[in-house]
Amino acid sequence: MNPRYEHLTQELQKCGIRLSKRRLQVVEFLCKNLCHPTVEQIYTGLQTTIPSLSKTTIYNTIKLLENNGLLRVLKIEDNETRYDIVTANHGHFKCQKCGVIYNFEIDLDPVPTQGLSQFHIASKDVYFQGTCLKCLININKKE
Ligand SMILES: [Zn+2]
Ligand SMILES: [Zn+2]
Repeated sequence: MNPRYEHLTQELQKCGIRLSKRRLQVVEFLCKNLCHPTVEQIYTGLQTTIPSLSKTTIYNTIKLLENNGLLRVLKIEDNETRYDIVTANHGHFKCQKCGVIYNFEIDLDPVPTQGLSQFHIASKDVYFQGTCLKCLININKKE
């Protein structure tokens, strides 16, 4: 059993939420695919195992997780919303060649925010772009 999945279902139980088998399968998919999938990708990814799955079920499951602070909504590009089951602070790196969004560890506490001392900060996002190692190796092979 995926430890992240186990943790999440326990958290949901603590909130008094009992998920249907279908919704649990969506949660499981998110725990296994930490690549920040879109609803479309979750749908396509689960279609072979659950042909009767509807996008509404996916949206409802996501909303439920989000409302309980168990999921992060990523809007790295304007036209697509991605979902991240890793809620602890971390940075994102998007490869401009293959489009994969990687997680990386970052300690955001030492980042100075003097200009915001009177503000309430709800979330901190760090977003880098570039070329990932896999793509760099491929470029070198071709040359
Ligand atoms: Zn890449
Ligand atoms: Zn992430």
